[in-house]
Amino acid sequence: MAEPAQTKKIPVGISSCLFGEEVRYNGGHKHNAYCTDVLAQHFAFKPFCPEVAIGMGVPRETIRLVGELGRARARGTQNSEQDVTDRLQTYAEAVVAEAAALRGYILMKDSPSCGLYSTKVYSDKGAPIGKGAGIFAARLRERLPLLPMEESGRLNDPGLRENFVSRVFFYDRWWREVACEPSPHKLVAFHSRDKYFVMSYGQKLYRETGALVARAGSGDLRPLLEEYIQTIMRGTLKPPTRKGHVNVLFHMVGYLRKLVPGGIRQDLTQAIEEYRTGLVPLVVPMKLMQHYLDNYASDYIRQQTYLHPYPFELGLRNNI
Ligand code: SF4
Repeated sequence: MAEPAQTKKIPVGISSCLFGEEVRYNGGHKHNAYCTDVLAQHFAFKPFCPEVAIGMGVPRETIRLVGELGRARARGTQNSEQDVTDRLQTYAEAVVAEAAALRGYILMKDSPSCGLYSTKVYSDKGAPIGKGAGIFAARLRERLPLLPMEESGRLNDPGLRENFVSRVFFYDRWWREVACEPSPHKLVAFHSRDKYFVMSYGQKLYRETGALVARAGSGDLRPLLEEYIQTIMRGTLKPPTRKGHVNVLFHMVGYLRKLVPGGIRQDLTQAIEEYRTGLVPLVVPMKLMQHYLDNYASDYIRQQTYLHPYPFELGLRNNI
């Protein structure tokens, strides 16, 4: 079965400098071609620059995080009396309402405003004491904990990149297919299509979400939906392991057991083994599986989002 056509680009936030806007402290940018040339074919990017938005101007004095990890303040590097923490947090609160309509967010690494994991924190005496999130990014993550967020540098890692894009598409499907007009039936249908996708993240997540969906139709739906999406978004923060993918692929082979000749099952098993031992990337057994499913399987399995979690041309399974 061909992957479903994507009708509308997915709204995703991005640090303005990654989008190519000349908003950095020195008047430069940090244009990320992967975002603007590849992801932009599927994502409608919405750029934000917190430091410009709070009126720091371009060019401007640089700031850095000073204090304790998790409680650091954003202060001027030359004029340490300059503290823009509160203004950055207030701006983040203003963006939260807008960002609630986003389905993902890509942030500039190392930045005292936008960094998500990699921003250096200094002691009052100026010694580096660790790394953490920038002021704007930390507040956004706190207020929108389900929103898939990633840092520019980490997007170079094939596994993290694949996982981020998968989660953005998943979160978008969730809003379009269930959250916009919820019903028990929609939750059951959604989970049924996403079963193998969830399973790839491990049996624990698979069991937990299955148990939640079993409660659909009995009791209050709203809290159940919240628990369901929270469970999945938290459970998918780390990419699936190779073992997780192998498990799903063997489930699919099991499904095909009575439908295809033994030789085909052997071909599939061999491709999965080659993936399991790292000889070939995930795309190899997936393509083969897709081919046989298209020819032999029922709609139930051909509609699994695990087979096409995002447009194939993104090529994200070629390097994992
Ligand atoms: S990292 Fe954030 S605050 Fe700094 S220039 Fe880029 S968008 Fe603006």
